[in-house]
Amino acid sequence: MQNIAIFGATGSIGDSTLDVIHKHADRFSVYALSAHSRIRKLLELSLVHHPKVVIVPDVAAEKTFRQLWPSEVSMPEIRIGSEGLCATARDPEADTVVAAIVGTAGLPSAFAAAQAGKRILLANKEALVAAGSLFMETVRKNNATLLPLDSEHNAIFQCLPNGKYNAQVKRLILTASGGPFRNIDPAGLSAVTPEQACKHPNWSMGRKISIDSATMLNKGLEVIEAKWMFDVDASRIDVLVHPESTIHSLVEYIDGSLLAQLGNPDMRIPISYALGYPDRIESNTESFDFSRLLQLNFELPDYQRFPCLRLAFDALKSSQADCVVLNASNEVAVDYFLKNKIKFTDIAVTIEKMLDGFAGTVKGALCHIDDVFELDAMARSHTSELLNATH
Ligand code: NDP
Ligand code: MG
Repeated sequence: MQNIAIFGATGSIGDSTLDVIHKHADRFSVYALSAHSRIRKLLELSLVHHPKVVIVPDVAAEKTFRQLWPSEVSMPEIRIGSEGLCATARDPEADTVVAAIVGTAGLPSAFAAAQAGKRILLANKEALVAAGSLFMETVRKNNATLLPLDSEHNAIFQCLPNGKYNAQVKRLILTASGGPFRNIDPAGLSAVTPEQACKHPNWSMGRKISIDSATMLNKGLEVIEAKWMFDVDASRIDVLVHPESTIHSLVEYIDGSLLAQLGNPDMRIPISYALGYPDRIESNTESFDFSRLLQLNFELPDYQRFPCLRLAFDALKSSQADCVVLNASNEVAVDYFLKNKIKFTDIAVTIEKMLDGFAGTVKGALCHIDDVFELDAMARSHTSELLNATH
């Protein structure tokens, strides 16, 4: 029996993970669940999945959870905040940590799981974007096992021998749907609403990653994620737009062979693969329906329409500090856009200003994880100042 702690249990990845785990009650047991704002949902999930531990953000949320909990059922232990998440990541009873918190808020607990040598199922790509080399070094030093949940990285993992990049691999090709704005007139992009931007053509996801998909920064974050996860030079990673989201990514070998992983756009597939690895387990997804697959289309990415993708490649080529600034400024800008405080096109403008201005003032290397947290906090506060001054 594998004890699973799910950080970000109330989100979209949390839902899909719990759906798969529920089907395999003989194999997995839910050890811990965390929430941030949706405490009522955490309570409902806890009544179904019976975790031993829940993690809530603060004492007010703890109070709400206690008040709502039915008195006739024994209550899970309640832990609080980032410390509660990190303690659970280190908890000897937790075998596997599903890192599915959105944003750099997920980095401390994912990092703690790496330090504790856990099996980590990583959805939180921002952890690798902000702290790639430190994170992977910690995984290696502590014999942790890192398995990708992000569908592209999961596909690449499946197409590489034992999930590892080697000299026989020519390049990794990350596919991208192009999001909801692949074809609209670029002049109309400044007027799109958060609701339009959140409507992804193929995937159903949380709001932040949906906006990242619409700007295509998501693909940029994934290029950085792939670089660190597979230890491959950025020059060997390409992006290919594939609007049907059927091929989840490809590996090209030196002999010219291309291996790809195909499937429905359903996160339960990569989640099942990672949960069961090295076995394959059932995922609850429907069999692939070839009668619906009329065509597979491919295009090269349009860097003019999607400047965020170019900014991510630039940051990766430049420095780890630039990657921290890219990620932090994006999180703040996306939050402002979701609150209707800035336009969709301001997201890229903001990131570019932060990379051109603030990032150049950063001194010294990021040698310790605390350096990453500090720079992330500074970049966030500068981005907010910039946006408050101009909007
Ligand atoms: P959601 O917004 O649906 O869920 C986010 C989760 O994180 C929720 O449980 C939320 O709690 C929690 N959370 C939010 N802010 C904080 C915080 N400050 N501290 C602690 N917990 C917090 O996002 P997704 O599930 O879509 O995405 C999660 C991660 O997985 C992201 O990094 C995303 O990039 C990645 N990912 C997602 C995919 C998808 O298909 N959804 C695909 C590939 C990667 P609450 O809801 O209670 O507020
Ligand atoms: Mg992805």
